[in-house]
Amino acid sequence: MGSELIYRGHETHPASDSYSPKPVKPWASVIRPIRYMLREQRLLFVLVGIAIATLIFTIFPTSRAPHVPHHHFTTSISDSITYFPIEPQNKFSYPHRVGFESANPTGKIPLGLKRKGLRIVVTGGAGFVGSHLVDRLIARGDSVIVVDNFFTGRKENVMHHFGNPNFELIRHDVVEPLLLEVDQIYHLACPASPVHYKFNPVKTIKTNVVGTLNMLGLAKRVGARFLLTSTSEVYGDPLQHPQKETYWGNVNPIGVRSCYDEGKRTAETLTMDYHRGAGVEVRIARIFNTYGPRMCIDDGRVVSNFVAQALRKEPLTVYGDGKQTRSFQYVSDLVEGLMRLMEGEHVGPFNLGNPGEFTMLELAEVVQETIDPNAKIEFRPNTEDDPHKRKPDISRAKELLGWQPKVSLRKGLPLMVSDFRQRIFGDHKEGSNTNNASTS
Ligand code: NAD
Ligand code: UDP
Repeated sequence: MGSELIYRGHETHPASDSYSPKPVKPWASVIRPIRYMLREQRLLFVLVGIAIATLIFTIFPTSRAPHVPHHHFTTSISDSITYFPIEPQNKFSYPHRVGFESANPTGKIPLGLKRKGLRIVVTGGAGFVGSHLVDRLIARGDSVIVVDNFFTGRKENVMHHFGNPNFELIRHDVVEPLLLEVDQIYHLACPASPVHYKFNPVKTIKTNVVGTLNMLGLAKRVGARFLLTSTSEVYGDPLQHPQKETYWGNVNPIGVRSCYDEGKRTAETLTMDYHRGAGVEVRIARIFNTYGPRMCIDDGRVVSNFVAQALRKEPLTVYGDGKQTRSFQYVSDLVEGLMRLMEGEHVGPFNLGNPGEFTMLELAEVVQETIDPNAKIEFRPNTEDDPHKRKPDISRAKELLGWQPKVSLRKGLPLMVSDFRQRIFGDHKEGSNTNNASTS
């Protein structure tokens, strides 16, 4: 065996008669460049270069740091963290953030320099809520990557960012893995309307479970902060009213809504397990019914249904006796809450909703007042497992995030109506942004 190896060695470097290099002097490789640099003052140039570089790094010490592998800065998670954990400040370092008051308090930011933007992925960013969130993040100076499979989202919702170097759009299904270098992940990808999520229930639960797993895996791998958009549906048909975050809910695990309700509950479980077990920085928002411009016109949700019906002079379809209640939040309030939650120090879960509670009949009246006082009401049989009431207790968000909704239903509805009017009839030119909602 040994002789065979020696023979192969000869085969690789055969002795050649035609070429016989000079024996290499070991010190020549060191001496030659030194001689070269001394000649023609090359050394001087090198020293001047080093001096300039040192000067630059001294003046700008806080430029965007390279990604630090997650295991470099995770610490053990306290066992005392229970249902509503509050992270100790700076428990995990957040190396890419510059300029936020809660991050890197010792970092120097030279006067006159703006903070560098974050790189943020928004899954479901071409949808209703996601697209408004993207607008705010881009306006803040961040770089945003939207990941969406366009199941219920539309390119039109984010088209105004095309050509902006801070914006990227990836057609991708979150049930497939994805690797991106980002600082934050807002995970919204999931149909929200009961009509849409019941359309393919297996896909809905897969999106919630596998999609969330993939995004948590990404967060773990690149050390990003992860925010889950959960839902008030985790409370099911609640036996507590209004609902506090400590309430565990009353959910039918085998009903037609369970693909969404149980899917989101499992997504919350996974989020907390990645936090406790793998040290991932997480945030959980429980969103209550939200409305505003860019909702799908025919997505089956009550506000979009009533508005589209009133505009088209069709009867407003009230399901059941119309006495069931919901609390309706304008989209700009939700986006503000999501961003505060992401930037804050608290994991959650947090209820994000408007406590103003309406029966469906009362909602129909507000729509009549806003669009057409003569709009008729038509009663239809209700859907299975429809929750009887829903109203958030938002004390926790008020206290810990300093957040509360500002836009009442009567103020927010007209903004949505003008967007719907434009999309249905094409007769209005005003934009569909959320920022011109006057508060109440
Ligand atoms: P939406 O349907 O308008 O947006 C969802 C987006 O996710 C769409 O762009 C859709 O194409 C995308 N998507 C769906 N499945 C996907 C997949 N497998 N891969 C990639 N993209 C996918 O809904 P929305 O109202 O904007 O809701 C956004 C998030 O907020 C959802 O997670 C929803 O559960 C949650 N939420 C919303 C409300 C509300 O009232 N709007 C209430 C509670 C919770
Ligand atoms: N609803 C209604 N008419 C409609 C659509 C919905 O009366 O055209 C009712 C529905 O039965 C439910 C409430 O409105 O009680 C809210 O329904 P939505 O689908 O908007 O949201 P979710 O049930 O998820 O809260």
